[in-house]
Amino acid sequence: MSKVQPVPLRGKVELFTDRLKNVQTRIREAAEAAGRDAASITLLAVSKTRPVEELEMALQAGLHAFGESYLQDALPKIEQIGSRAQWHFIGPLQSNKTRAIAERFDRVHSVDRLKIARRLSEQRPAGLPPLNVCLQVNTSGETSKAGVTPDEVAELARQLAGLARLRLRGLMTLPARSDELSRQRQPFHQLNQIFQQLNRDGLALDSLSMGMSNDLEAAILEGSTLVRIGSALFGPRQG
Ligand SMILES: *Cc1c(COP(=O)(O)O)cnc(C)c1O
Repeated sequence: MSKVQPVPLRGKVELFTDRLKNVQTRIREAAEAAGRDAASITLLAVSKTRPVEELEMALQAGLHAFGESYLQDALPKIEQIGSRAQWHFIGPLQSNKTRAIAERFDRVHSVDRLKIARRLSEQRPAGLPPLNVCLQVNTSGETSKAGVTPDEVAELARQLAGLARLRLRGLMTLPARSDELSRQRQPFHQLNQIFQQLNRDGLALDSLSMGMSNDLEAAILEGSTLVRIGSALFGPRQG
Protein backbone atom coordinates (compact mmCIF):
# COMPACT_ATOMS: atom_id res chain seq x y z
CA MET A 1 0.00 0.00 0.00
CA SER A 2 1.28 3.44 -0.88
CA LYS A 3 2.00 5.87 1.86
CA VAL A 4 -0.55 8.58 2.58
CA GLN A 5 0.74 11.80 1.12
CA PRO A 6 1.10 14.55 3.70
CA VAL A 7 -1.18 17.53 3.12
CA PRO A 8 1.07 20.22 1.69
CA LEU A 9 1.69 22.98 4.18
CA ARG A 10 -0.21 25.96 2.94
CA GLY A 11 0.95 29.48 3.54
CA LYS A 12 -0.67 31.63 6.15
CA VAL A 13 -1.76 34.10 3.51
CA GLU A 14 -3.56 31.45 1.51
CA LEU A 15 -5.28 30.15 4.63
CA PHE A 16 -6.39 33.66 5.58
CA THR A 17 -7.67 34.32 2.06
CA ASP A 18 -9.71 31.12 2.17
CA ARG A 19 -11.22 32.04 5.53
CA LEU A 20 -12.04 35.54 4.30
CA LYS A 21 -13.76 34.19 1.19
CA ASN A 22 -15.75 31.83 3.36
CA VAL A 23 -16.90 34.66 5.67
CA GLN A 24 -17.78 36.85 2.68
CA THR A 25 -19.82 34.02 1.19
CA ARG A 26 -21.67 33.53 4.48
CA ILE A 27 -22.45 37.26 4.62
CA ARG A 28 -23.62 37.33 1.01
CA GLU A 29 -25.84 34.27 1.40
CA ALA A 30 -27.38 35.54 4.62
CA ALA A 31 -28.02 38.92 2.99
CA GLU A 32 -29.68 37.20 0.03
CA ALA A 33 -31.86 35.14 2.36
CA ALA A 34 -32.89 38.35 4.12
CA GLY A 35 -33.53 40.21 0.85
CA ARG A 36 -30.80 42.68 1.74
CA ASP A 37 -27.85 44.17 -0.11
CA ALA A 38 -24.62 42.58 1.20
CA ALA A 39 -22.88 45.92 0.62
CA SER A 40 -24.93 47.35 3.49
CA ILE A 41 -23.11 45.06 5.95
CA THR A 42 -19.65 46.02 7.20
CA LEU A 43 -17.18 43.28 8.04
CA LEU A 44 -15.19 44.29 11.13
CA ALA A 45 -12.11 42.08 11.53
CA VAL A 46 -11.76 41.38 15.26
CA SER A 47 -8.00 41.35 15.66
CA LYS A 48 -7.74 41.27 19.48
CA THR A 49 -4.75 39.20 20.67
CA ARG A 50 -3.50 38.81 17.06
CA PRO A 51 0.03 39.91 16.15
CA VAL A 52 0.42 42.92 13.89
CA GLU A 53 1.69 40.71 11.02
CA GLU A 54 -1.77 39.15 10.80
CA LEU A 55 -3.38 42.59 10.62
CA GLU A 56 -1.00 43.53 7.80
CA MET A 57 -2.11 40.36 6.03
CA ALA A 58 -5.76 41.31 6.50
CA LEU A 59 -5.04 44.80 5.10
CA GLN A 60 -3.40 43.22 2.06
CA ALA A 61 -6.53 41.12 1.58
CA GLY A 62 -8.64 44.29 1.53
CA LEU A 63 -9.95 44.57 5.12
CA HIS A 64 -9.65 48.04 6.59
CA ALA A 65 -11.49 47.99 9.91
CA PHE A 66 -10.17 46.26 13.02
CA GLY A 67 -11.87 45.52 16.33
CA GLU A 68 -9.76 45.48 19.47
CA SER A 69 -10.78 44.64 23.06
CA TYR A 70 -7.67 45.23 25.13
CA LEU A 71 -6.05 48.65 25.07
CA GLN A 72 -2.48 47.61 25.84
CA ASP A 73 -2.62 44.92 23.18
CA ALA A 74 -4.07 47.35 20.64
CA LEU A 75 -1.82 50.40 21.04
CA PRO A 76 1.35 49.04 19.37
CA LYS A 77 -0.72 47.79 16.43
CA ILE A 78 -2.38 51.20 16.05
CA GLU A 79 1.07 52.75 16.28
CA GLN A 80 2.33 50.67 13.36
CA ILE A 81 -0.74 50.65 11.10
CA GLY A 82 -2.26 53.99 12.01
CA SER A 83 -4.73 55.53 9.60
CA ARG A 84 -4.35 52.76 7.01
CA ALA A 85 -7.18 51.15 9.01
CA GLN A 86 -10.20 52.19 11.05
CA TRP A 87 -9.99 51.25 14.73
CA HIS A 88 -13.00 50.04 16.70
CA PHE A 89 -12.86 49.48 20.45
CA ILE A 90 -15.21 46.62 21.34
CA GLY A 91 -14.03 45.59 24.83
CA PRO A 92 -14.99 46.50 28.38
CA LEU A 93 -14.42 50.19 29.24
CA GLN A 94 -12.69 51.42 32.36
CA SER A 95 -12.26 55.05 33.43
CA ASN A 96 -8.48 54.88 33.34
CA LYS A 97 -8.53 53.74 29.70
CA THR A 98 -10.85 56.33 28.23
CA ARG A 99 -8.21 58.96 27.34
CA ALA A 100 -6.15 56.66 25.10
CA ILE A 101 -9.33 55.28 23.55
CA ALA A 102 -10.67 58.77 22.84
CA GLU A 103 -7.34 59.69 21.25
CA ARG A 104 -6.67 56.60 19.15
CA PHE A 105 -9.95 55.01 18.09
CA ASP A 106 -12.54 55.90 15.46
CA ARG A 107 -15.43 54.13 17.14
CA VAL A 108 -16.36 52.59 20.49
CA HIS A 109 -19.03 49.85 20.51
CA SER A 110 -19.23 49.20 24.23
CA VAL A 111 -20.48 52.41 25.86
CA ASP A 112 -22.91 51.46 28.62
CA ARG A 113 -22.83 54.29 31.16
CA LEU A 114 -22.95 58.06 31.18
CA LYS A 115 -19.80 58.52 33.25
CA ILE A 116 -17.68 56.76 30.63
CA ALA A 117 -19.44 58.56 27.78
CA ARG A 118 -18.72 61.94 29.42
CA ARG A 119 -15.04 61.12 29.79
CA LEU A 120 -14.76 59.97 26.18
CA SER A 121 -16.40 63.19 25.01
CA GLU A 122 -14.21 65.42 27.20
CA GLN A 123 -11.05 63.58 26.19
CA ARG A 124 -11.69 63.43 22.46
CA PRO A 125 -8.97 65.66 20.93
CA ALA A 126 -10.23 68.86 19.32
CA GLY A 127 -8.44 68.14 16.03
CA LEU A 128 -10.35 64.92 15.43
CA PRO A 129 -13.97 64.43 14.33
CA PRO A 130 -16.43 63.43 17.08
CA LEU A 131 -15.90 59.88 18.33
CA ASN A 132 -18.46 57.46 16.91
CA VAL A 133 -20.13 55.37 19.58
CA CYS A 134 -22.60 52.54 19.90
CA LEU A 135 -24.46 51.76 23.10
CA GLN A 136 -23.97 48.21 24.30
CA VAL A 137 -27.29 46.64 25.25
CA ASN A 138 -27.61 43.58 27.45
CA THR A 139 -30.22 41.53 25.61
CA SER A 140 -29.72 38.29 27.50
CA GLY A 141 -30.82 39.48 30.92
CA GLU A 142 -27.75 38.11 32.67
CA THR A 143 -26.60 40.40 35.44
CA SER A 144 -22.97 39.44 34.82
CA LYS A 145 -23.00 40.73 31.24
CA ALA A 146 -22.02 44.26 30.32
CA GLY A 147 -24.50 46.61 28.73
CA VAL A 148 -27.50 48.72 29.62
CA THR A 149 -30.84 46.96 30.00
CA PRO A 150 -33.32 47.46 27.14
CA ASP A 151 -35.35 49.72 29.48
CA GLU A 152 -32.41 52.07 30.01
CA VAL A 153 -31.30 52.56 26.39
CA ALA A 154 -33.56 55.50 25.49
CA GLU A 155 -32.54 57.49 28.55
CA LEU A 156 -28.80 56.94 27.98
CA ALA A 157 -29.19 57.77 24.28
CA ARG A 158 -30.91 61.03 25.21
CA GLN A 159 -28.11 61.93 27.65
CA LEU A 160 -25.46 61.18 25.01
CA ALA A 161 -27.08 63.61 22.60
CA GLY A 162 -25.81 66.38 24.90
CA LEU A 163 -22.17 65.33 24.59
CA ALA A 164 -20.56 67.46 21.90
CA ARG A 165 -17.58 65.28 21.05
CA LEU A 166 -19.50 62.02 20.63
CA ARG A 167 -21.67 60.93 17.74
CA LEU A 168 -24.17 58.23 18.59
CA ARG A 169 -24.29 55.82 15.65
CA GLY A 170 -26.27 52.88 16.98
CA LEU A 171 -26.48 49.84 19.21
CA MET A 172 -24.35 46.79 19.91
CA THR A 173 -25.07 43.51 21.65
CA LEU A 174 -23.06 40.45 22.64
CA PRO A 175 -25.62 37.76 23.45
CA ALA A 176 -25.12 34.53 25.32
CA ARG A 177 -23.80 31.88 22.95
CA SER A 178 -26.28 29.54 21.31
CA ASP A 179 -25.94 27.12 18.39
CA GLU A 180 -29.58 27.24 17.38
CA LEU A 181 -30.61 29.78 14.72
CA SER A 182 -34.01 30.63 16.19
CA ARG A 183 -32.51 31.26 19.64
CA GLN A 184 -29.67 33.28 18.14
CA ARG A 185 -32.17 35.51 16.38
CA GLN A 186 -34.14 36.52 19.50
CA PRO A 187 -31.67 39.02 21.05
CA PHE A 188 -30.86 40.47 17.61
CA HIS A 189 -34.54 40.90 16.88
CA GLN A 190 -34.98 42.66 20.19
CA LEU A 191 -32.04 44.99 19.52
CA ASN A 192 -33.45 45.91 16.11
CA GLN A 193 -36.83 46.72 17.72
CA ILE A 194 -35.12 49.11 20.14
CA PHE A 195 -33.11 50.60 17.27
CA GLN A 196 -36.24 51.28 15.21
CA GLN A 197 -38.02 52.83 18.18
CA LEU A 198 -35.10 55.20 18.82
CA ASN A 199 -35.16 56.25 15.18
CA ARG A 200 -38.92 56.84 15.33
CA ASP A 201 -38.18 59.02 18.37
CA GLY A 202 -35.94 61.17 16.18
CA LEU A 203 -32.42 59.78 16.57
CA ALA A 204 -30.67 59.25 13.24
CA LEU A 205 -28.97 55.94 14.02
CA ASP A 206 -27.39 53.92 11.21
CA SER A 207 -25.52 51.09 12.93
CA LEU A 208 -26.61 47.78 14.38
CA SER A 209 -23.40 46.11 15.57
CA MET A 210 -24.38 42.49 15.99
CA GLY A 211 -23.18 39.07 14.88
CA MET A 212 -19.91 37.20 15.40
CA SER A 213 -18.28 34.11 13.86
CA ASN A 214 -20.88 31.79 15.32
CA ASP A 215 -24.07 33.75 14.67
CA LEU A 216 -23.55 36.18 11.81
CA GLU A 217 -26.39 34.62 9.76
CA ALA A 218 -28.91 35.20 12.56
CA ALA A 219 -27.68 38.77 13.00
CA ILE A 220 -27.93 39.59 9.29
CA LEU A 221 -31.42 38.11 9.10
CA GLU A 222 -32.35 40.51 11.92
CA GLY A 223 -30.87 43.60 10.29
CA SER A 224 -27.22 43.78 11.35
CA THR A 225 -25.19 46.48 9.59
CA LEU A 226 -21.84 45.45 11.08
CA VAL A 227 -20.63 41.96 11.97
CA ARG A 228 -17.65 41.56 14.30
CA ILE A 229 -15.69 38.53 13.13
CA GLY A 230 -12.62 37.13 14.89
CA SER A 231 -12.04 33.38 14.87
CA ALA A 232 -13.70 32.70 11.50
CA LEU A 233 -11.06 34.99 9.95
CA PHE A 234 -7.96 34.47 12.06
CA GLY A 235 -8.56 30.97 13.44
CA PRO A 236 -9.23 29.96 17.04
CA ARG A 237 -7.82 32.23 19.74
CA GLN A 238 -5.32 30.87 22.26
CA GLY A 239 -6.14 30.95 25.95
C1 LIG B 1 -14.00 38.59 20.53
C2 LIG B 1 -15.19 39.37 20.15
C3 LIG B 1 -15.80 39.20 18.89
C4 LIG B 1 -15.35 38.17 17.88
O1 LIG B 1 -15.69 36.88 18.30
P1 LIG B 1 -15.52 35.61 17.32
O2 LIG B 1 -16.43 34.62 17.91
O3 LIG B 1 -14.09 35.23 17.40
O4 LIG B 1 -15.91 36.02 15.95
C5 LIG B 1 -16.88 40.02 18.58
N1 LIG B 1 -17.34 40.95 19.45
C6 LIG B 1 -16.78 41.15 20.65
C7 LIG B 1 -17.34 42.20 21.55
C8 LIG B 1 -15.69 40.37 21.05
O5 LIG B 1 -15.17 40.56 22.27
